[in-house]
Amino acid sequence: MLYSGQAIVLKRRAFKENDFLATILSKEHGKIDLVVKSGAKITSKLAGPLSGIYLIEFTAARGRELDRITFSSIIERFDSIESNWEARIQALQIIEIIDRLISEKSADPEIYNQTLEALRALNNLKNEKVGKLLVYRFLWLLLYKLGTGPEIKSCVNCKSGENLSHFSFSHGGMLCADCRQTDSTAENIPNAALAMLSSSKLSNGWTSANDISLFIKIARLWSEQHTHRPIKSLNFNQ
Ligand SMILES: [Zn+2]
Repeated sequence: MLYSGQAIVLKRRAFKENDFLATILSKEHGKIDLVVKSGAKITSKLAGPLSGIYLIEFTAARGRELDRITFSSIIERFDSIESNWEARIQALQIIEIIDRLISEKSADPEIYNQTLEALRALNNLKNEKVGKLLVYRFLWLLLYKLGTGPEIKSCVNCKSGENLSHFSFSHGGMLCADCRQTDSTAENIPNAALAMLSSSKLSNGWTSANDISLFIKIARLWSEQHTHRPIKSLNFNQ
């Protein structure tokens, strides 16, 4: 049986003899591993679209254990990601985040669309500092999508939605001014940074360096504490 779809190429690795295995995030079928027959041969027409960070269309045939790709074609390239070293690292971070946090074969068009939106935004960026923020925005929104984000809209201690002032890693979210003493290590969060923590947008023209670095710090530490598989590439350019 054949099936087709649109996908973002996540990674490839050696498999048997001349074959390789490609992992893709497909809009219709979720994250899947596909065998690329003779993909390691330079004459392979199937391999090209699977050998970079591309948006592709593909057809695959179901197999007993692994499905096999029978057609692939590039729909969209990300030229800046290909040519700009910094953007490339950040794109690989986004891809590793998806690869580590998303389980196989659970199709989620929202996650797919967000990944594509993040890659497109990264491709159009002029400033790598904003690129770093984008990577952590992507990670942050994905944590919520997967149900592992901290409580941001109300105090984790008393449930009040007012005067939220501190972030507590041990309590799992924001504390209000009355409850902040319950965690002496809680981090003071200015209103603008709280707006970043609670926003559901990938980017929103944020410019304050202090708020951005506070947001990145919280997103990084939270993800380290709450994801089972470390995202190694995030250690690359902290
Ligand atoms: Zn409270």
